[in-house]
Amino acid sequence: MSRLSIASFFPFRRLKVYYQDVNPEVTEAHIKTRADLRFTPVCQACGNKAPRVHSWTRREIRDLNMATATVWVSCIYRKIYCPHCKRIHIEDLGLFHPYLRVTTRLARYVYQLCRVMTVTEVAKHLGLNWKTVKTIDKQYLERDFGQPDYEGLRILAVDEISLRKGHRYLTVVLNYETGHVVYVGKGRKTKTLVRFFNQLKPRQRKAIDAVVMDMWAPYIKAVKKKLPNAKIVFDLFHVVAAYNRLVDKIRNSEYRKASKKDKAVFKGAKYLLLKNRKNVRRRSHRHQLRELLKINEMINTVMILKDKLKHIWSYRSRSWAIKALDNWCQLARSTNNKLLINFADMLDRYRYGIINHCDFPIHTGKIEGVNNKIKVIKRKAYGFHDVRYFTLKIYQAFSN
Ligand SMILES: [Zn+2]
Repeated sequence: MSRLSIASFFPFRRLKVYYQDVNPEVTEAHIKTRADLRFTPVCQACGNKAPRVHSWTRREIRDLNMATATVWVSCIYRKIYCPHCKRIHIEDLGLFHPYLRVTTRLARYVYQLCRVMTVTEVAKHLGLNWKTVKTIDKQYLERDFGQPDYEGLRILAVDEISLRKGHRYLTVVLNYETGHVVYVGKGRKTKTLVRFFNQLKPRQRKAIDAVVMDMWAPYIKAVKKKLPNAKIVFDLFHVVAAYNRLVDKIRNSEYRKASKKDKAVFKGAKYLLLKNRKNVRRRSHRHQLRELLKINEMINTVMILKDKLKHIWSYRSRSWAIKALDNWCQLARSTNNKLLINFADMLDRYRYGIINHCDFPIHTGKIEGVNNKIKVIKRKAYGFHDVRYFTLKIYQAFSN
């Protein structure tokens, strides 16, 4: 037993350290503490004095590590009958949370680590149970981010993410101006969004000027139903994503039709075609892209249309945007390609939301950034099974 007192590391005034065993060889420290009798106990639930002691009890809890030693604190404390709560509670010593087997300061440390590490990593690092770590993180997240702020919403961005490839969707709503996520809901139906809009006061709903989103009928329906003053704006990021899927399909069918010699030029072309043309930097790639566009007229047209498509979103004048959109649809239909004709029909159907972009010039990079950030959180394997936990992690990630 060391002669040096570690009591000053336990600055809890209602607590007395009466035994310490710090053994560097076993890298463990055992500290024994008990409630200081000079103080009248206070109720952990309500904070009021509760002089009537019901019984004494003890628990073993983990504390922050001391150098390389794992610290165990044994604490003897009182159960009290609280005259305020009119029931039995435990006394508040400032040392631990009633439902957790760790000290409050260790819990706070776990919470900080969980911001940058995965639950598994934190559990391993501290030698704690995975479930304990997750429970602590979730509890603090609920306290800090459990209720998002709906005041001042003016422009919303709605996006969807798939939890597993192709199914189980979540709908994410962002305050476009602050970058805060204000809602995460299960599914991607009309009712998913309606559920969120219903949480807003009528005044808050009326204040929303625009909603940015993908061309997705259920979302459109929800906005039209619940937000009387909101203009729907379709953002370029989602439209280009849809168009890229079309590029991929056409590349596939053209490849199948190509001669053996030409097929070689297609090799590895998938990502070249999906990239922004100015981002294709390597000389061999540029050469390959030029060759491909030369030998295949259809692919050439598809790529020209892709550039022109992005251009529609660059106008601030409604009449110019309408002209560009009409021009695009005409060109797409002139190819006689069924996929392109369908795409033109879709743009035509949703033209109001494309033209609205002139009034609400939403930055595509921001929408894409949000999408990517959520994917990163998902990859860290948070909350595949616990949607609430995943939701809280998203709120936290977008909080500053
Ligand atoms: Zn009480």
